[in-house]
Amino acid sequence: MTQTLTIRRPDDWHLHLRDGAMLEAVLPHSAAHFARAIIMPNLVPPVVTGAQAAEYRERILAALPEGAVFEPLMTLYLTEETDPADVAAAHASGLVKAVKLYPAGATTNSSRGVRDFDKVRGVLERMAEIGLPLCVHGEVTDPDIDIFDREAVFIDRVLDPIRRATPGLRVVMEHITTSDAVDYARAQDDTLGATITTHHLVINRNHILSGGIRPHYYCLPVAKRETHRLALRKAATSGAARFFLGTDSAPHTDANKLLPCGCAGCFTAPNTMAILAHVFEEEHALDRLERFTSLNGPAFYDLPVNAATLTLERATGPCPERVATEDGPVTVFDPGFTPAWRVA
Ligand SMILES: [Zn+2]
Repeated sequence: MTQTLTIRRPDDWHLHLRDGAMLEAVLPHSAAHFARAIIMPNLVPPVVTGAQAAEYRERILAALPEGAVFEPLMTLYLTEETDPADVAAAHASGLVKAVKLYPAGATTNSSRGVRDFDKVRGVLERMAEIGLPLCVHGEVTDPDIDIFDREAVFIDRVLDPIRRATPGLRVVMEHITTSDAVDYARAQDDTLGATITTHHLVINRNHILSGGIRPHYYCLPVAKRETHRLALRKAATSGAARFFLGTDSAPHTDANKLLPCGCAGCFTAPNTMAILAHVFEEEHALDRLERFTSLNGPAFYDLPVNAATLTLERATGPCPERVATEDGPVTVFDPGFTPAWRVA
């Protein structure tokens, strides 16, 4: 039985670090295991311009613990007013690695997202020219569409039309949650990538709603039926270049999760690698963990694979149940089992 596993240092292709006290508390957990991360721009107010992204990057670097080696890969929040020239300049300088599309109202802090897709056509065309990827929160926000169907409807109504209208545009379907998304991703050419979170490999909708409501399992896109979870596990552990890790680790204080209208998000940064090793072993795919966490993402983003390595060992814990922040505790995602692996 394999007792240790050494892989190229992983990257996280979708991460929420927040700002201020929360940033300081959660960043060390990502920096301990990951070399780089695509940093989500949905702050209040959002990171819209290259200048704002540069300032946010400085705040992240200033919050890094002594000696930590971690590179934040910055993104811009796409609005209907986004200036194509600003996006192109931020990309040319090396600062910005992707632009993030939130349909207005889809998730936490997305009210400035896009309502009229015709208004962002110029930006998307410029991005296709310069090879800058678009990261997509793939859910429609139409209240008439059932929340469990919003991803599949988004693919038909928004994603596929955008890709057809903008040939060459590189797109990442983020945090996919359905077999519909897996099937769509598999059928496309290599301008399309898809990230999968840790928690969507572990929970289905029963975990949220059966035997009492579990706010810490509530995230967006919401976890779906078991058949979808199994499709995600198959995709992630397949080794296929299209699929790579984006944890969507999204810290909220317990006070903001445990409300009559609680926030969406699972905080998985501290135990993601332990859980993933456990899941990949269950799927007899430990040898493909590195592709999912460390190889496929850089290939899509045209970045070098990390030179450093990370070693996992067959041993349990310790993992904190909560992380303390100045704003209050943040509960760490509980996979419902004790991972058989930990980062050495
Ligand atoms: Zn997210």
